[in-house]
Amino acid sequence: MSRIHFLLTELSALSLLCALTFTAPAGVFAQSWSYGYGQSTRGLDHPTYGYGQPGESAATDLDYLDDISADGIFNWPVEKFPLKVYIERGDNVPGYRPNYPNILRAAFDEWARASRNRLSWVEVGNRAAADVVCQFTAQAPERDEGTEAGRTKTYTRFDTATNHGTIYKATVGLATRLPDREMSDEEITKTFLHEVGHAFGLAGHSPRRTDIMFARVSPSMPPRLSQHDRATILRLYDGYQQAQPVAAQRGPVAAPDRG
Ligand SMILES: [Zn+2]
Repeated sequence: MSRIHFLLTELSALSLLCALTFTAPAGVFAQSWSYGYGQSTRGLDHPTYGYGQPGESAATDLDYLDDISADGIFNWPVEKFPLKVYIERGDNVPGYRPNYPNILRAAFDEWARASRNRLSWVEVGNRAAADVVCQFTAQAPERDEGTEAGRTKTYTRFDTATNHGTIYKATVGLATRLPDREMSDEEITKTFLHEVGHAFGLAGHSPRRTDIMFARVSPSMPPRLSQHDRATILRLYDGYQQAQPVAAQRGPVAAPDRG
């Protein structure tokens, strides 16, 4: 029998928290999050994932899904798509710039394209009806690991029999600026892409600093999804039907911003 529990109803520590941090460019790689980067090879109730089977070692060079799946596989159920995304207005948040919503929308679109439209989303004006709630905040807390630029929380029904988490809600917090300076548009783009990756189900961090899902904003990280990022999201939703390219059909939802 499957046992299903709700991750956030038990311990907040069991929620998937992400904090993308800024640090000085130098420094050794250090995984400082509580994600279990382990050697778990428990089988999952999904036909398309291969976990350490002989001859599949090449797959781990192509994506990092295994690196982030030690605690299970987390994704949205197919019937949730297109995800309903609410983007809270940020005009009154210190440090906010009016191009942020469009950078955020572009981040959702980029992941959707990377998934070959297995992921899709629509913007909604009703927070209560949204699957994903995005908020801007002037708070970028200083942590031991660096300055936190974003934080995403996913709410999951977790089936202990299959080690599969079904996401039913996500909240994305995005810092508008760092405590000591503004972020460039390029840094904002990296941060938003990273947090949206978590919201879509990537439950950990890439070990490669050139991937958007690396835990820290890095100068060597281009402001776009890497091949590894794209391969990982594609594998996470491999069995899903391709949706129509919703993003391309979506009309303007707000006054267009420059940038
Ligand atoms: Zn993260």
